[in-house]
Amino acid sequence: MKKANLLTLLIVLGMVLGALYGQFLLYGCEEPITGSHWTKTAGDLTLIRPLKLLVIPLIFFSVVAGITRIGDPSKLGRLGIATLGYYFATMLIAVVIGTTLVSLIQPGELPEDVRMSVIAEGQSAFQGDSGLKGKVEGQSMGGAWTNILKQVIPSNVIEEMAAGRPLGLIVFAMMLGLALAAGGSRTQVARDFFDAGFEGLMILIQWVIWLTPIGVFFLLAWTVGKIGMAELIGPLGSYMGVVFVGLLFHMLVVLPLVLWMFTGINPYGFMSKMKPALLTAFGTDSSSATLPVTMETAELEAGCSKRASNFVLPLGSTINMDGTALYEAVAVVFLFQLYGIDLSMSELLIVVITATLAAVGAAGIPSAGLVTMVIVIAAVNGSLESAGLALPVAAIGVILGVDRILDMCRTTVNVWGDAVGARIMTRLAPDDPSTGE
Ligand code: ASP
Repeated sequence: MKKANLLTLLIVLGMVLGALYGQFLLYGCEEPITGSHWTKTAGDLTLIRPLKLLVIPLIFFSVVAGITRIGDPSKLGRLGIATLGYYFATMLIAVVIGTTLVSLIQPGELPEDVRMSVIAEGQSAFQGDSGLKGKVEGQSMGGAWTNILKQVIPSNVIEEMAAGRPLGLIVFAMMLGLALAAGGSRTQVARDFFDAGFEGLMILIQWVIWLTPIGVFFLLAWTVGKIGMAELIGPLGSYMGVVFVGLLFHMLVVLPLVLWMFTGINPYGFMSKMKPALLTAFGTDSSSATLPVTMETAELEAGCSKRASNFVLPLGSTINMDGTALYEAVAVVFLFQLYGIDLSMSELLIVVITATLAAVGAAGIPSAGLVTMVIVIAAVNGSLESAGLALPVAAIGVILGVDRILDMCRTTVNVWGDAVGARIMTRLAPDDPSTGE
């Protein structure tokens, strides 16, 4: 059996066994499963931490090596513009799908008594989660953008690395890569160093990747034990259904179509090769932690060039989030429906634009989308101000309980969007066939 197939099989096995064990924990244990449950700690230790350990060095080496390989600034400019164009276009499509579905299906139109009890439960869930409350209070459109700008123009790259903020590091690595490419023979040694360092990291990733089945076992057990499958059929069931359908449509129809249009390759064949990365995204809830697996799979299994992937994947894991964008649009419109506030066409347009921007602002970590959603709510509230209507921020407590499952699904779509981007950009930046670089 091929190594990639064996790995996929083991990851799926880990997930299934984890989900079963999670059910057992749910019904077999007296105490409730919390964030400090041992299964969560075990998942962190066996998968999340080893992957996160690789992310910052990987971004640094891969982006520098990728940029020096492309070298020519005009080629790089074209790749940069095409990549950003791809990110924004696909995120916008995702948001439009989400907004259309949630407006048509209206999952927030529930019987009055159910509505009231869902809202009351949500408010108390929000009040009880002091961590979320703190994060949410710091969110605003202006604040989020200043924050992104500050990350894009960092003043201390070591600080960015230490804080695990990838954006500033990517900018620095791109500048350094450009300078090393411009240095000609004077900087050859440094270029070789980054190339070899990157290859070394890829070997390390190929070792660490075998931890994935064990890690997803624990993480799935924790997730299933914590939420339980019963939520799926509760009053939030149709809201979750809309998110699932939207994500599936974007993942299985829209992105494959885009990939096929630009490359002519069989998108489902490509998807099948990317399985280890997609499953890891599903199990870890984090595009950032999945990045090592995404890069390994894209370059070694799925035919993406190093030149394209080294640029598109690290950047994509922090700013390209189709799944998050779609989810934020559905969640916000759903909450307004639940609170009995009708949104007009112009407010839906605000949702489309701000959900795209809020997804860009969300970090590739668990629940990031839940927090940046506040930006979308604030923007719509601003437009409703003259009518004296507003959705309280505490409303996000309503969807808190089911966020983990949706996070797993949207993170998978986020990573899939990055992979499709890398495969498309491979046409613009193929590797040199003689050296493979
Ligand atoms: N967990 C998502 C990711 O890492 C972000 C989100 O919360 O939507 O891609």
